[in-house]
Amino acid sequence: MSENIEHVKCLIIGSGPAGYTAAIYASRADLKPVMYTGMLAGGQLTQTTDVENFPGYPNGIMGPEMMEDFRHQAHRLGTDIRFGYVSSVDFSSLPHKVVVDENKTILADTVIISTGASAKWLGLESEQKYSGFGVSACAVCDGFFFKGQDVAIVGAGDTAAEEATYLAKLCRKVYMIVRRDEFRASKAMVHRTLNTHNIEILYNTETKEILGDGQSVNGVSVFNNKTNEERDLDVTGFFVAIGHSPNTEIFKEWIDMDETGYIKTKPGSTQTNIEGVFCCGDAQDHIYRQAVTAAGTGCMAAIDAERYLAAKEHPVIA
Ligand code: NDP
Repeated sequence: MSENIEHVKCLIIGSGPAGYTAAIYASRADLKPVMYTGMLAGGQLTQTTDVENFPGYPNGIMGPEMMEDFRHQAHRLGTDIRFGYVSSVDFSSLPHKVVVDENKTILADTVIISTGASAKWLGLESEQKYSGFGVSACAVCDGFFFKGQDVAIVGAGDTAAEEATYLAKLCRKVYMIVRRDEFRASKAMVHRTLNTHNIEILYNTETKEILGDGQSVNGVSVFNNKTNEERDLDVTGFFVAIGHSPNTEIFKEWIDMDETGYIKTKPGSTQTNIEGVFCCGDAQDHIYRQAVTAAGTGCMAAIDAERYLAAKEHPVIA
């Protein structure tokens, strides 16, 4: 077999909590997993600061450090972790073909997709500058740091409505920045939002700039897109909740997905529509999106892969 073609039992694509947990379980099951990390090795958590809600870290931990711990554990147990980007796949026959960095082909008996999702951002320079220092795309992860303070959240879908009500329980006041004169969220969520006394909804409003002192956020400049009237909101936190995009584009041709690109798995398992291909983490979950739930499904994917291979090796003869 040429140097640029390699056969593996278990290939893991992506290196967030789902991918590393799958790697830990697959290593211990002797599947000799090979992992390609993707461009953002460690995933979304490498872009956050404190993580206080992952069990096992009683004093909290920085996101990048936690992902280093995941990496060490997977490596110690035998996962072959490689930096590389999967550029295309061919799931038409077994073993599955996966091309890495456009020049190396992996033939894999099982593939675990853990490519995650990416939060959508407004695209403002100040948003990037203060990311992790007052700007966040996850209220459940970071809301706690703004206890008793005033914050703003942008978006009007179910996520924004849910996160605004979550923040309202912790914060003194929540400004909700809605670009149209109506919500996109479901009626029930809109009702809950409108009935939360400390949420102020700013309709027809867009974000001009996030303000700060160079270290952290101390305000946000918004404008009314009907009147062009500008105002500054006195807030210390700015939450972006305008949706997520699953990183699943390269699988589109082969794998069943919902209309927004989240991979469909068989209920109660991580099995996709393709034999031997499993999916875990945010690539298949638009509801919970937590590190710990991603890790849980990563564990499931490795167990599913192990059982699939075992069943192939020792078929039950009726
Ligand atoms: P959505 O795509 O549903 O909503 C995105 C929201 O962000 C919209 O209100 C949109 O405005 C707004 N938006 C987009 N871009 C910008 C921008 N540049 N500036 C300002 N506002 C912007 O995403 P969600 O994450 O809310 O939901 C994704 C899916 O997950 C949905 O199907 C939702 O129902 C589901 N979900 C379900 C939950 C549950 O059942 N508990 C909880 C959370 C999500 P506009 O309306 O003007 O386009």
